[in-house]
Amino acid sequence: MIAIYARQSVDKKDSISIESQIDFCKKEIIENEEIKVYIDKGFSGKNTERPQFQSMLDDIKSGIISRVIVYKLDRVSRNLLDFSNIIETFKKYNIGFTSCNEKFDTTTAMGNAMLSITMVFAQLERETIQKRITDSYYSRGSKGFYMGGKIPFGFDKVEARIDGKKTSMFEVNSEQAPITEKMYELYANTNMSLGEISRYFNEKNILSAEGKAWDNGKISRMLRNPIYVNADADIYLYYKNKGCIISNEISDFIGTNGLYLYGKRDRNKNKYNNVENQTISLALHKGIVDSNTFLLCQYKLDNNKQIKNSGKGKHTWLSGIIKCGYCGYAVSAVTNYKGQKYFNCRGKTNLNICSGHSRTLYVEDIESMIEEEIFSKADELRNTKMKVAKENKETNEIKLKILDIDNKIENLFNALEEGNSLTIQYINERITKLQNTKNLLMEESKKIIIVNNAKKSTEEILKNIDNWNELDFDAKKQVSRLFINKILLKDDEIKIEWNEI
Ligand SMILES: [Zn+2]
Repeated sequence: MIAIYARQSVDKKDSISIESQIDFCKKEIIENEEIKVYIDKGFSGKNTERPQFQSMLDDIKSGIISRVIVYKLDRVSRNLLDFSNIIETFKKYNIGFTSCNEKFDTTTAMGNAMLSITMVFAQLERETIQKRITDSYYSRGSKGFYMGGKIPFGFDKVEARIDGKKTSMFEVNSEQAPITEKMYELYANTNMSLGEISRYFNEKNILSAEGKAWDNGKISRMLRNPIYVNADADIYLYYKNKGCIISNEISDFIGTNGLYLYGKRDRNKNKYNNVENQTISLALHKGIVDSNTFLLCQYKLDNNKQIKNSGKGKHTWLSGIIKCGYCGYAVSAVTNYKGQKYFNCRGKTNLNICSGHSRTLYVEDIESMIEEEIFSKADELRNTKMKVAKENKETNEIKLKILDIDNKIENLFNALEEGNSLTIQYINERITKLQNTKNLLMEESKKIIIVNNAKKSTEEILKNIDNWNELDFDAKKQVSRLFINKILLKDDEIKIEWNEI
């Protein structure tokens, strides 16, 4: 099948209509072959984040496309590096590529020669940037952060000589890198928890870098470590917004290098969960994970309220979340001489700071009261379909705002071509500001996607609630923790703090 790709950004005077673009493309087709047309209306060619363009790439990867035709080269991309990446993809899948306007046709010898020249320039630009990355790497005198500590899972350490200087750097380990990718993919695109992901790998007898089994902490550190990401401008902005010090220019974030995260930190805090005031530097090695997948994982981890340590209590599924309503310390279930279980305040028994409860609160009674509350909360949740619809509307509004910004930026770009140096400076500032707003909006819309994913998992929880009586002790414990953050127990009052679901 032949793909025709047409793109038009809104109100551009000189721009040719979608319909005429398609007509031009059709003239290039001699064979009597099936055509599929992809149209992105209202999208600029600055990057490749265009829905129909992406869907065309998907079709290419699935093997149903043999040739791509566009009206003009800039319909594919206005960015040389993006353009050459796309051409690489075309090559990889053996796709013929024709651009009507420039008579650029990779099915001819001349077209291929032109293509080679384009690729040489793109490569030159890439090498210039790599050189800049290497230089800044040395000028910081930054020995140490790649040498110290263990080699991260997914990489090997190799000796390298760059510009005559001897150094060592990471290199992708071909056995471990696909596992790393899989880990990111599972967390970004499924509802699997960190625990479920570690079980997934442990069951397959895949060991961590230390040759041990995976656990939540190890998986979370893997997903947080920017050493794995092919860092592009979105990644730059993510860390900038988090308060990191970034030692390279945003223009050097071209989606090819991994990152080092280092700097002083509070020993008590997880290095990756609080990155404020830590330094981010482009590394010499190639990353493993694409920027979009990496960011989805970060947003999800940022939003992930750690489920509190559930405690080892085997007497009640409430242990870990149930606290004394007077002193705030945990209450534990103890058994009296008659074999009845009741709650005991640890603030009283262990610390003697609480006067405790003046009546016996039996575990069985409290459990059944909480059960009732969980059931009615579940009913409440079933009636929130309206809310989901509202959120979809919000995503649309954000998309429209982004579209509007894209148009403004595109218009400014056009104005740049005619401007004098004074206006150019002004326009550049405007563009930077608009770009920042756009990135915030994109972050916002990604968050909403995550919320919607969470909604899906809510449905699963609700199914569990329907079968509550068949759930075993651990399952009840798990489900109650998803709903409840904390229960405060007083003699005559039970206060439940619900989680936001
Ligand atoms: Zn107490």
